[in-house]
Formats: sequence, C-alpha cells, structure tokens
Amino acid sequence: MNLKHFIGGKWVGAEVGDVFTVRSPVTGEVLYTVARGSREDARRAIDAASEAQDYVRSMPVYERARLLHRAAEIISSRREALARELSIEQGKPYATEALPEIDETAENFRIAAEDIKRLDGKVMPSRDKNKLILLRYEPYGVFSVITPWNYPYLIPSEYIAPAFAAGNTVVFKPSSYVVGSAARLVECLEEAGFPPGSVNLVFSDGDLSGREEVGDEMVVSDKVAGVGLTGHTSTGELVSRRAGMKKLLLECGGMGPLIVLDDSDIARAARATAISSFTNAGQVCCAAERIIVHERVYSGFVNALIEEAKRWRLGHPLDESTLIGPMNNEPTARKVDEHIRDGVEKGARILLGGGRALGFSTDLYYQPTVVVDVTPDMLFNRDETFGPVAAVMRGSNDEEILELANSTIYGLQAAVFTRDISRAFKFVDQVRAGQVLVNESTLYWEPQEPFGGLGGKKSGIGRLGGVYTVYEMTNLKTTVIDTS
Ligand code: NAD
Repeated sequence: MNLKHFIGGKWVGAEVGDVFTVRSPVTGEVLYTVARGSREDARRAIDAASEAQDYVRSMPVYERARLLHRAAEIISSRREALARELSIEQGKPYATEALPEIDETAENFRIAAEDIKRLDGKVMPSRDKNKLILLRYEPYGVFSVITPWNYPYLIPSEYIAPAFAAGNTVVFKPSSYVVGSAARLVECLEEAGFPPGSVNLVFSDGDLSGREEVGDEMVVSDKVAGVGLTGHTSTGELVSRRAGMKKLLLECGGMGPLIVLDDSDIARAARATAISSFTNAGQVCCAAERIIVHERVYSGFVNALIEEAKRWRLGHPLDESTLIGPMNNEPTARKVDEHIRDGVEKGARILLGGGRALGFSTDLYYQPTVVVDVTPDMLFNRDETFGPVAAVMRGSNDEEILELANSTIYGLQAAVFTRDISRAFKFVDQVRAGQVLVNESTLYWEPQEPFGGLGGKKSGIGRLGGVYTVYEMTNLKTTVIDTS
C-alpha cells in the first residue's frame, strides 16, 4: 500500500517524489511504500496548520467537541480492523493489547471532548473596586506532535485530541516504523469532519536513516508555538535545545524501579512484575526496567516470577493465545542483546530465556527473559533495556533499596509492594518519580490521570493525560477590565 502525507485536508505525495518502505516485524513482508518527507514537506504542513488556525480557534467549543466525539465513534466502529493492522505493523498481541489500545485511543477523543466543554476560567478578586480580572485559556496556535513506535495510536491521540479540543492546529509526525497506523488514525479524523489543515500528517524516514529533517523543521519553525514529543531522553534533550522558547511537552525515557519489600504479597508482586516486564514485549516507558527485591524474600520472589514468566507465550500476535509478539525493530532488539551480554559478563545469571527465539518469520521474536543478581554497574541499571527482560537486583534494607531506586537520571513511574501503609508512604514520598504505584504494576495508568516525568530528572517536562494536557496546550490569558 502507498502512503501519502495529509496536508491541508488532501493526501499528497512528497515534494521531491521520493519513497521509503516499511516491513512488518511479524512477517518480514513489506507493508507500505511511504512518501519520504523533506524539510519542504514539513514547511507545507506547518503552513497549512497556520492557515487553519484562525478558523479552528474561532470554532464554537461545542462544535470541536462534536467532531471529537464523531472521531471516537469512527475509531470504535473500526476497532477490529485497526487493531489487526496495528498488530501486524507494531507486533503487539491483537487480543490483549492492540484492541485495548484502539479502545483507549477512542476514549482519549471522548475525554478531550468532555474536558473542553467544562474548561472554565476564573474571575479574580481585585484590589480596585473598578477592576475585573479575567483568566481564560486560549490555544497556543500550531502544535507539532512527534511520536514513537510503541503505542502508534494511543500516544498520538494523547496529544492530538486535547490540542484540537483547545483550538490548536496540529502537524503530526509519527515514527517511521508505524506509518500505517498514523495514516489510519488521520483517516478517521478526516471522515469525522476535522477542518482542512487542522491536523496534518507528514512522514519521515528519520528513524531508519538517522537524519530527522522533518522532525527538526517541526521543532525549529517560527510558525510552530509548541512541541509535544514522546521519545528517548536524548531526543527530548536535543529537541528542547532546538526548540528555544517554544512551549514544550516532553515524555521521555523511564527506568521504573519496581520494589518488592519483605512484607509484601509475593504472588501478587510476581504477577505484577511479569505484567510490568513483558507487556508490549517490554517496549514501554513505564516498564519495570529495574526490579529491586528485599534479600529476605529474594529467592521466593524469583521462583514465583519464573513461574509467572513461563505463562507469557511468545508467538504470532494474531494468535489469541499469544501474550508476547515480536519486538518492533532491529535496533531495539540489538540493544537488548547488548544489555544481556553486558550483564552476563559482569556476573548476572539468566534463569529463563536470554535471547532471540528461533523458528519465526523474523529475527525479532525475543524470549521472555528473567535475569538475576543484577548489580548497579550493569547496563540493566543504567540505561533502558526496552525489551522483554525482568532484571532483578537485591537490596538488604529499606535505605539501600531507596538509594538503588533513586540511582538513576530518570524519574517516570515506580511501584512498591508492601503490606505496611507507613512503609508504602515512605517510598511514595522518597522515590524520585512522577508517579508511584502501591501494590500495582508499573504498567498501570488511566487515560484521565496526569502522567509524566519528575521535574529536574530526565524523563520529560509537563503532564500528559485528560484535562492536564489541555492545560499544557493552552495559554492562561489574563484580561483586566476597568468597569468605571
Ligand atoms: P525516538 O526518540 O527514537 O523517536 C521518537 C520520535 O522522535 C520519532 O518520531 C522520531 O522520528 C523523532 N525524532 C528523532 N530525532 C528527532 C529530532 N532530532 N527532531 C525531531 N524529532 C526527532 O524514540 P522511539 O525509539 O521511537 O521510542 C522509544 C522511546 O520513547 C523510549 O525511550 C521510551 O521510554 C520513550 N517513551 C516515553 C513515553 C512516556 O510517556 N514518557 C511513552 C512511550 C515511549
């Protein structure tokens, strides 16, 4: 299938007529031939978004909300077809992950529609009896939305729905690995009746070629007011330097510590750890990258975790019994190989899995892996592994466990397992992360809750989720009226 950019309400080829191809991680077959975007294509899309700005910001809020609800209905009505294509393009299991992702994408459009209808401002008291101080939220203007390959529908919807709800117009650039999902999502918006230029889509081969011209133009252009990006911390840092004083909403890497204390329900903790490590083949920002276990329950926990891990059947993502599909792409799988090699060289032991699985259509099927005796000097503890690996470390007391948990540049999502409420709160207060879960997997989130990195760490800037994204994507405009 040929994919084109969507600019100013029309599907158009690349300015220079060039293309690239995208293969399925599941079958290895070529899925799409895609218009290769250039800086010029990005500029065309930014111009279209700028031109649509006046119209979109002046639309009645109820009209924007109606279109968002319509988009949700269309997405929901196609859930099976969209989820099947998502599985084949991204690799995630159809029944347990792709369908829920489509459902939550539709939900994000509904949430944005409802949030924007209730977004009231304020009248502030004044020290002068003749002054009325009004606070209102107004759109920024053009928002660039740059997204990764691990949640090809969900993550774009987290930005696009609230951006449009608030009256912004959007230029959207997905990862080169998941172009089909992006095109399908934009088709739904087009059919819902989103005005021409309100959401524009430009493809780029940047993830494959290593040169990200389209994304860079979307970050540096003076016509862009804000940039929403989900991606690696190194990408977020580069983008924040290039963006200057634009509004930034960055969702970057995580090294989620999952902490198991000696008074916790071990069976529950092991089950939640497997979910945290193996969902989406471990390719999640809030995966349990580091599992830190109190030494008193270490061996019991490891045994329970291995039993849980054995249940995670690796296979074709459309097979209903599959819980892990292939990894999405070779560079990510190679990084997992490297982390395992590094860990083993430094003394870690592999108790389950440990490498790629044979006998599949591609080399991207990775065995669910449990590694123990991980130490702080290993790559497992220093850099996101981003694969189906449960890497278990040992801590001898609460203080040492806390220190290990915080020995990272990241601060996204953490979890602690304990039966003691005061101990739970000690960790909630002292673990340096944006979100801390108690007796729940690090994978748990709800679409309306604010999600993001802790300020001062390197997991991002701002909050994504529900009305909190609307606040991020609007200016708080102060108006003072003299009533005399
Ligand atoms: P990535 O950083 O390689 O790419 C993300 C997006 O940024 C892609 O669209 C890419 O083309 C674009 N990009 C790359 N360089 C750019 C540049 N110089 N200018 C503009 N755009 C540029 O990340 P990825 O491999 O696609 O995704 C995995 C990463 O995303 C992991 O680190 C993961 O933790 C993170 N992530 C974070 C969250 C969160 O909510 N915090 C959620 C999902 C994924």
